[in-house]
Amino acid sequence: MTDAFPAADRHPENLAPDTVVVSAGRPARTHDAAVNPPVVLSSTFVGRGEVEHGDRAYGRYSNPSWDPFEETLAELEGARLPGLVFASGLAAVSAAISLLPAGGVLVMPQHSYQGSLAVAEQLAARGVLTLRTVDIADTEAVKAQLPGADMLWLESPTNPMLEIAELKVLTDAAHAAGALVVADNTFSTPLGQRPLESGADVVLHSVTKYLAGHSDVILGAVVTSDEALRKRLIEHRSLHGAIAGPFETWLALRGVRTLALRIERSQATAALLAERLLAHPGIEAVRYPGLPQDPGHERAKAQMDGFGSIIAIEVKGGEEAAGTVVDAVRLWVPATSLGGVESLIERRRRHVNEPASVPENLLRLSVGIENAEDLWADLAQALEKARG
Ligand SMILES: *Cc1c(COP(=O)(O)O)cnc(C)c1O
Repeated sequence: MTDAFPAADRHPENLAPDTVVVSAGRPARTHDAAVNPPVVLSSTFVGRGEVEHGDRAYGRYSNPSWDPFEETLAELEGARLPGLVFASGLAAVSAAISLLPAGGVLVMPQHSYQGSLAVAEQLAARGVLTLRTVDIADTEAVKAQLPGADMLWLESPTNPMLEIAELKVLTDAAHAAGALVVADNTFSTPLGQRPLESGADVVLHSVTKYLAGHSDVILGAVVTSDEALRKRLIEHRSLHGAIAGPFETWLALRGVRTLALRIERSQATAALLAERLLAHPGIEAVRYPGLPQDPGHERAKAQMDGFGSIIAIEVKGGEEAAGTVVDAVRLWVPATSLGGVESLIERRRRHVNEPASVPENLLRLSVGIENAEDLWADLAQALEKARG
């Protein structure tokens, strides 16, 4: 497999990201060619020469259905090499963690996605790695944990506390300490920030969320411009076997086509809802980096192209009132996950593994693309019910 994209398959250079989402990963323009890439259902591929991981050869090593999505993701993240699609975001997380040396030290945000934290905690309990959790918004505190570290895990904004990490400063500090930097860019998407540009070594995604965007597929991906790291990630994927299905990958690319439109819309609605929620008497606190009052606002403004469409609110009246809101909504869907076209609401502490520092009354709102006033009306009536 070659690392460069074939010239005939490429669209022009230097296109804006909202064009790339539409035009990348298309088949070469030959007469009667399909406009969309095919779904290739084959577990094996004809060949007789030497084979290594990453070559086509066998469906656990690669599949032509992965290529268009992997190329598109690389282009969006500004990577020099195609991305690598995995069976889920968590499979991508496990692959990235596998880059640690035996007994290595992993520095991770205390409010990382709970699944990522759980993987790290399990490996730490078995002595496979040493885990140091940090408040990722506290740059000095993170720096203090870097001596001796082998990997710094970045997530910004964090899930669901929406803390903002200083990506460039922390990446530079981690590299100075000899640590690899992995950035989970699920919340922001490459349209919001591109951690590779800040020097991160590996970027990963739960493609399940914004990239696929329709709550109909579980998928993950990693992207790196480092050839040696990429080779190890391919080996991990080939040997551990958490590979993407051809149709899931096709669906993800189809979702990416509308990513810019979906984000533009949901982000605008999130900004409006955050302002109104802030003024609502039934609410104790609103976390949204787009609010000027938010502790992460200035940082987010400096390093992101948009504040995203996740809001966290703390409802007055504690866990019970928060539960009432979730029970009372009729348009918002009470469900976990985020980044789909439909708006979702969830009390995060219903997950027994959610860190205890996440307030019991915290609701995470994933703002979708419905009409903003319909979303507000539904939320407002639910908040009224919770006030009794
Ligand atoms: C959902 C999520 C994951 C895990 O992805 P799956 O596709 O559910 O396996 C990882 N990181 C973040 C930030 C997420 O939101």
